Amino acid sequence: MLYHSTRNKALCVSSAEAIAQGISKDGGLFVPESIPALSAADFDALKGLSYAERAARLFALYLTDFTAEELRECTRAAYESGSFETPAVQEISTLADGSMLLELWHGPTCAFKDMALQILPHFLTRAIKKTGIDREVVILTATSGDTGKAALAGFKDVPGTRILVFYPVDGVSPMQKRQMQTQEGANVGVCAVKGNFDDCQNGVKAIFTDPKMQEILAANGMQFSSANSINWGRLVPQIVYYVSAYVTMLEKGILNNGDRFALTVPTGNFGNILAAWYAKQMGVPITHLVCASNINKVLTDFIDTGVYDRNRDFHTTVSPSMDILISSNLERLLYHMTGEDDAQIREWFGALKTDGRYEISRELRNRIQAEFSGAYFDDAQTKAMIGKVFSETGYLSDTHTAVGICAARDYTAKAADKYPMLIASTANPYKFGAAVLEAVGVDAGDADEYAVLDLLQQKSGMKIPAALAELKTKPVRFEDVTAQEDMAEYVKASLGIK
Ligand SMILES: *Cc1c(COP(=O)(O)O)cnc(C)c1O
Repeated sequence: MLYHSTRNKALCVSSAEAIAQGISKDGGLFVPESIPALSAADFDALKGLSYAERAARLFALYLTDFTAEELRECTRAAYESGSFETPAVQEISTLADGSMLLELWHGPTCAFKDMALQILPHFLTRAIKKTGIDREVVILTATSGDTGKAALAGFKDVPGTRILVFYPVDGVSPMQKRQMQTQEGANVGVCAVKGNFDDCQNGVKAIFTDPKMQEILAANGMQFSSANSINWGRLVPQIVYYVSAYVTMLEKGILNNGDRFALTVPTGNFGNILAAWYAKQMGVPITHLVCASNINKVLTDFIDTGVYDRNRDFHTTVSPSMDILISSNLERLLYHMTGEDDAQIREWFGALKTDGRYEISRELRNRIQAEFSGAYFDDAQTKAMIGKVFSETGYLSDTHTAVGICAARDYTAKAADKYPMLIASTANPYKFGAAVLEAVGVDAGDADEYAVLDLLQQKSGMKIPAALAELKTKPVRFEDVTAQEDMAEYVKASLGIK
């Protein structure tokens, strides 16, 4: 299996190269030349296997330059070394209305990002060896809160790697900030950026694709890579959990062979929902994909009108990991759905850069609408849904998942055909404790983020994740703040190069 760039179809690299580079030098994203198909017998063959074993078999379809044994080593290290609190790695919970939550947040940093970022460092260190480049890998990551911590946890003290994380100074939850500022490890760095997530992401993309920076790094025996969902090594593990979830639903008799289901994904950078789309192309019987947004509803508008327009106010919300106006992974979807029209992708994403806007044809919009719909909900609706679900069932959902529940219920109410609904549950509610506490009707007063954990436990009876409770005793290591235009200098200074 080879990979092309969305902006240059003639470019062909191996999966190891795609993972090692992170983003193509032309600014495009790496995409597989074809999408493997799974038959009913293939799904059957995955029944009864551990998550790690399922993952290893599925990775083999995409990462064809890794041996089966290498993939097993990677999946065992990621999913069977005790960093996930549940042996199944992912869980499915059912709500009172029959909809199901695919809980993807049982990993060490309490968000779904762990599903991919616990394994990415294992892929990456092997990929570097395979590409024959003997350089230290510098992971640059822009985060809206969850990727940063998950990447830090994954790359902490991994030999041959360094990691630098940039987050928007006022754009993450207090707990997310604590998680990053207290990160341990000799090869890690964390810095706030004066700006929002898009500023962080643009800053990181600019550093990555700057030939001069690449030269400077190479001269110092280093090379950049990415832990953001622009890296193909992030997306494949996400495809895996959708395939695995389907197999689990078959095993449990929730679905029978031939049954279809709808899927809702709370969306920001479009990585998670794109992984679901790939799973659908592979044969997972998903009828429809509901793209749930908060008030930063650029994707809802895009799906409705065919116009992608980032020229609008940016809002900070109670679901900060979805506060994004440039959803990078949409580029991959459009590449596939235009029949791999790289010239068209160059035109649109060039326009996005210069004018902040592009418009697709009506015909393409119709095809996107046949597979996707978008819906958005504001903070008040999100909190009301957390309260409602909690009083209906005692189930506590986080703010991002709650946006998904809103969208799922809205879709189901309007849909002509009724299919079982699966909703991606993306974070542990304790990660966004203050908003969740208010949503279930408790006044936090001036409680700090740790007191909030206790209050939420008293109210819900849900166990506080140890990974969050223990932050209280950890020293704050990183308090730097930089301007977007100074990020490149900051990177050089942290790496000790001139
Ligand atoms: C990252 C994140 C999202 C958005 O996922 P994308 O892949 O960026 O669309 C949603 N919820 C939570 C909790 C997240 O951390």
